[in-house]
Amino acid sequence: MDEIQPGIFQKRNKLMTKNAVPGEKVYGEQLLEIDGEEFREWNPHRSKAGAAVKKEVNLEVDRDSEVLYLGAASGTTVSHFSDILIEGFVVGVEYSDTVARKLVGLAEKRENIAPVLADARKPEEYSDLVGEVDIVFQDISQKDQAEIFLKNCREFLKDDGTGLLAVKARSISSTKNLDNIFGKVKEKLREELEIVEEVRLEPFEKEHLFLKLRK
Ligand code: SAM
Repeated sequence: MDEIQPGIFQKRNKLMTKNAVPGEKVYGEQLLEIDGEEFREWNPHRSKAGAAVKKEVNLEVDRDSEVLYLGAASGTTVSHFSDILIEGFVVGVEYSDTVARKLVGLAEKRENIAPVLADARKPEEYSDLVGEVDIVFQDISQKDQAEIFLKNCREFLKDDGTGLLAVKARSISSTKNLDNIFGKVKEKLREELEIVEEVRLEPFEKEHLFLKLRK
């Protein structure tokens, strides 16, 4: 088994993180016992961050990183970040209260997750809960996803911090061609951030671009 990024392991093509709550699954993933320790399989078909790792993007999430995660949903990917962040933490912002209920349950079992029920379009609603962070991660299927991301990076991302953005083309336009959609998103982001890496997420996710950016 290889540790391919801090806290992210790979064995025979399977991605895994070390389970911070042994015995507990989060989304029906496989638990594997390796050398006396328990690992959770990280399914890249269920997580854009997992898909990006499979596509060889270094997420730059370290064991002590402070992460703001926008579009946390029920916590599938947040749970793997929680496994990695042994000395760090992740603030998960989600605006659907039905979905966030499961995230709250997850946070009760894991000390390094802070769930926030809020609209990511309004960072002022959670600015008293979140300080400067090392990483802003976003997975939100909205037409204005680039604007939402920029607002949060402006407010919370430290200088030289890393932005990770999963862009879902079909939330922006159902008809325009992908190069046109992704081109416009990148143009907007470049006004404030440097794009350091970009990768399409096929075969794990269709019509998504994953961007790594630097402030
Ligand atoms: N990132 C999650 C994972 O891998 O486990 C899946 C995220 S899902 C594709 C997108 C989520 O973004 C949904 O749960 C949706 O409710 C949430 N969302 C959409 N617009 C939002 C907004 N303006 N503020 C906060 N959350 C939002």
